[in-house]
Amino acid sequence: MRPVFARAAIPRVPPNDVMPPDADRLARVDAILQRHGADRTHLVEILREAQEPEGWLPPEVITRIARAVDLPRARVEGVAGFYSMLHLEPAGRYRIRFADNITDRMQGSEALLDRMCESLWVEQGKTSEDGLVSIARTSCIGMCDQGPALLVNGRAIPRLDTARIDRIAELVRAPTALDAWPPDLFVVEDNVRRPDRILSAAFAPGEVIRATLARGAGPALEEIKRSNLLGRGGAGFTTGIKWQTTRDSPGEERYVVCNADEGEPGTFKDRVLLARHADMTIEGMTAAAYMIGSRRGFIYLRGEYLHLREPLLETLARRRAANLLGKDILGTPGFELDVELRMGAGAYVCGEATALLESLEGKRGIPRNKPPRMAEKGFLKLPTTVNNVETFCGAALIMLHGADWFRAVGTSKSSGTKLLSVSGDCARPGIYEYPLGVTVQQVLEDCGAERTQAVQVGGPSGTCVSANEFRRRLAFEDLETGGAFMVFDESRDLFEIARHFAHFFAHESCGFCTPCRVGTSLLRNCMDKLHEGKGSQHDLDRILRLNRVLKASSHCGLGQSACNPLVDTLKRFRPAYERRLQSFEFEPAFDLDGALARARAMTGRDDPGAHLRETENG
Ligand code: SF4
Repeated sequence: MRPVFARAAIPRVPPNDVMPPDADRLARVDAILQRHGADRTHLVEILREAQEPEGWLPPEVITRIARAVDLPRARVEGVAGFYSMLHLEPAGRYRIRFADNITDRMQGSEALLDRMCESLWVEQGKTSEDGLVSIARTSCIGMCDQGPALLVNGRAIPRLDTARIDRIAELVRAPTALDAWPPDLFVVEDNVRRPDRILSAAFAPGEVIRATLARGAGPALEEIKRSNLLGRGGAGFTTGIKWQTTRDSPGEERYVVCNADEGEPGTFKDRVLLARHADMTIEGMTAAAYMIGSRRGFIYLRGEYLHLREPLLETLARRRAANLLGKDILGTPGFELDVELRMGAGAYVCGEATALLESLEGKRGIPRNKPPRMAEKGFLKLPTTVNNVETFCGAALIMLHGADWFRAVGTSKSSGTKLLSVSGDCARPGIYEYPLGVTVQQVLEDCGAERTQAVQVGGPSGTCVSANEFRRRLAFEDLETGGAFMVFDESRDLFEIARHFAHFFAHESCGFCTPCRVGTSLLRNCMDKLHEGKGSQHDLDRILRLNRVLKASSHCGLGQSACNPLVDTLKRFRPAYERRLQSFEFEPAFDLDGALARARAMTGRDDPGAHLRETENG
């Protein structure tokens, strides 16, 4: 039953209270532009900062920025319109966005969202009349181990329950400035359940750099190659080869980029690595920079991890002060690297490395054509290596302990350990680190999962495995994974889970190429049709046909993998689909008879005698 709320009067907040006069607003924007040197490659960052005070980007702010960075206004507006965290329309002073991963729903996020909407008198997806608050949903925010969760003005609040929702509603109604909200609301736990080589590593800052310098750039790179370190973001490319290509490619500059934009629903391991092992990540980047000859690096952090921004900036500043970044690092003439932190602004597709580089250049995150490879023409068309947070951590440990130590665990094809983000139906969700090759069954036992029906390995774009496959191994030669491990017990409806993922891909498609833009919408519609009991065998065949089209003709991995969760569940859990079919033959999605019922009633045409009487009356 829905909770009944005492409808406390919500104070009216005139918009003018938060709208500075134009001159003040533009002076503030000018200060932001000056800080960024009006550099158009900083455009996403500039827009994020310009939006902060008011929660949206008024037209004159867009115009001012466009003039300053010397870009057409439409281009700047196009960039702002691309990212879900940037707004071109007024939003509430408090912008509340509920995480909408399937695990959040399983933990009751829908009822909590309803409760907050009722409490604050605002409809989901809308802004309250007084401009105080807007409430919406957003994709996974990387808190699946402690959901349900939400973002308020970009700051994460995990572990939601009715008490927390009521507290938040009260703070909004007061209204209390966000900085004065109780700090306990914003505590994000690490939930490390099983540490192994990476999560238990301890070394003094600078040790990895010293070990790399002692080896020399060429031999250090050979050691990375010998370790067979494969990219941990999911693609599994050989790190040593990528770094060698970057080193060998001609260019005045080379760049090293850490992809910390983990947006795959169900993944949150990089959140924990950056919270606990930021030094290890940056040491790995610095070692990579030494090997490939780079002087400039970036950490591209997903916008949803705003709570990590300040600690990371402090770590970078501390390392600069200790001469672990900057010029002549550790007294080595000519060894120079600075690392800049850049924030994403809410676009799943930016986890794709070329889309990430577009975003870093201040553009919409549209994946690029390949070739050329990023190692040859990456950031600003110069040689660039992009690696996941966990890959840099692995490289750091290889520099300390050597390739043989690294290869001593894992399988012959998949060396080292892998971090898993475990969530869903289990007693102990959190981060688990295992040697690669661990079975699904072992992870399920360790995390306290019971009566498990299926596991989604690698997020929606990965693989859904059923109980008879739990002996399979998490390794590049079997079940590849970027780290997500979502558990579903026997009480879950696998069709509804797949439908949720179909909505996710339709929402996150960047719209650049037709097969993905149209195909993901058709898939979503098809799943909705089945959900409404209007589907037929024809729709099941259609999903498989769309899969072939999307795989063959989508521009990037998002479109190519959008059908994976549907095809996997259709193959393994077909009865979940078939019990929704009204018939095996064609069923129209549109109910013509139902749609005309009201008109028939109004004209009396549902009355069987009406036609006869009309005829008799002449
Ligand atoms: Fe964008 Fe989808 Fe095409 Fe990738 S496949 S470029 S996400 S429309």
